[in-house]
Amino acid sequence: MSLHKLTLHELQQKFGNGEVTAREIVQAYSLRISQVEPKVKAYITLAKESALAQANALDQKLKGWRRTMPLMGMPLAVKDNICTEDVLTTCASRILGNFVPPYDATVIARLRGQGYLLLGKTNLDEFAMGSSTENSAFGPSRNPWNLGFIPGGSSGGSAAAVAADECVAALGSDTGGSIRQPAACCGVVGLKPTYGRVSRFGLVAFASSLDQIGPITKDVTDAAMLLNVIAGHDPLDSTSANLPVPDYTKAFKKKELKKLRIGIPQEYFAEGLDPEVEQAVREAIEELKRLGGDIQDIKLPTTDAAIATYYLVATAEASSNLARYDGVKYGLRSKQTKDLLEMYMMTRQEGFGPEVKRRIMLGTYALSAGYYDAYYGKAQAVRTLIRRDFEAAFQAVDLIVTPVMPTPAFKLGEKVADPLQMYLSDIYTISVSLAGIPAISLPCGFSRAGLPIGLQIIGRAFEEETVLRAAHAYEQATTWRTKKPHIR
Ligand code: GLN
Repeated sequence: MSLHKLTLHELQQKFGNGEVTAREIVQAYSLRISQVEPKVKAYITLAKESALAQANALDQKLKGWRRTMPLMGMPLAVKDNICTEDVLTTCASRILGNFVPPYDATVIARLRGQGYLLLGKTNLDEFAMGSSTENSAFGPSRNPWNLGFIPGGSSGGSAAAVAADECVAALGSDTGGSIRQPAACCGVVGLKPTYGRVSRFGLVAFASSLDQIGPITKDVTDAAMLLNVIAGHDPLDSTSANLPVPDYTKAFKKKELKKLRIGIPQEYFAEGLDPEVEQAVREAIEELKRLGGDIQDIKLPTTDAAIATYYLVATAEASSNLARYDGVKYGLRSKQTKDLLEMYMMTRQEGFGPEVKRRIMLGTYALSAGYYDAYYGKAQAVRTLIRRDFEAAFQAVDLIVTPVMPTPAFKLGEKVADPLQMYLSDIYTISVSLAGIPAISLPCGFSRAGLPIGLQIIGRAFEEETVLRAAHAYEQATTWRTKKPHIR
């Protein structure tokens, strides 16, 4: 079997018992990338040479030694808004087009500590703002299942790279759905951890109260393996939780779901849900029931306020976070301007794309004196209600199951002219982000057009183990994970 088709845990086993070298692994992936990357366009920056050099050094060092660390020699892709020392980190923006970070994000330092190999940095919507990867300054990525369709966003490059076997696993970031939604579009697994579970240090900030880094992988076991390494307290991120990290791969011991109460929120199956998506998700719920899950109807009444709330909170925070790009400290600087003010203005004018500018304006407006209470203050109050909705629901159930996206992946270009339409595709993922709780997206079917459909499993804060356990049981009881796209 070709190495690039293996999951992380399968490849790790082969490497661990000495069947393959790190060099052979990188060579296999380099070949795969050269075959399909011209079509998929998952990466902004490739690091094949440095990955090969690291692999050689690793093989040399390991001669005669046991290879015990789970991510050692494993070729990963990293979303290009996560800082990697000495490797270009652009956020898919012209304004950071030349930015080479002088340090690693904490998650990268942890992967490095295990001897992982960085294959490259993946494409995204500029500053992670979007749902289709079409807002990248470097052009969109493509859905490996059908190259005329979006791979989802904003971590579309990472999800496409995993689905196209251009890496064994990847990191994404999720502010309002950007891990789960592209995972659903590309038929792979994406896990958004609880807010505070994974350090945000070195993740370029979009909306700091929502951003989380998480794994995008070929199966649920791989997501648990990656979460094991990236989760945990970090003194460099004051919002990271100082709680012990369990071994998430142990969550799979129990195969059935007996005694697990699973809530189905009726608000998530209302108008606007594509019938094919609804059918696939309802069949998945039946499967969870067969596995022993106790299915119950629940209510999340504030669901219809989620999009408005999210787009106030996220844009307000973004407008503040993006004030730092002024041409002075790093990144692009506009040339031949007559004074400092013009330099600031021209740099931002030239450096940011239209969606980023739109959000800076929306957020600045929401925060401005006189409007603050009416918009930002109100959004914060509604956010609390959304969180309480989930808290109340989790009194009665242990997990909540919903669709990830209202439709399968849409055609490239279909929604670019209508930002509001694009925002509406986030309806099923943003409440979870506002509540700060964990959720996974995993494949649960295909549309008649052959595009993947995702299932979302949501858990209580810091109960990733329960989420992973249910996801794993469902995955093992179905065959979706065995399907691979034919890239043509
Ligand atoms: N699609 C949402 C947005 O555009 C979420 C993005 C994200 O999670 N980074 O803001």
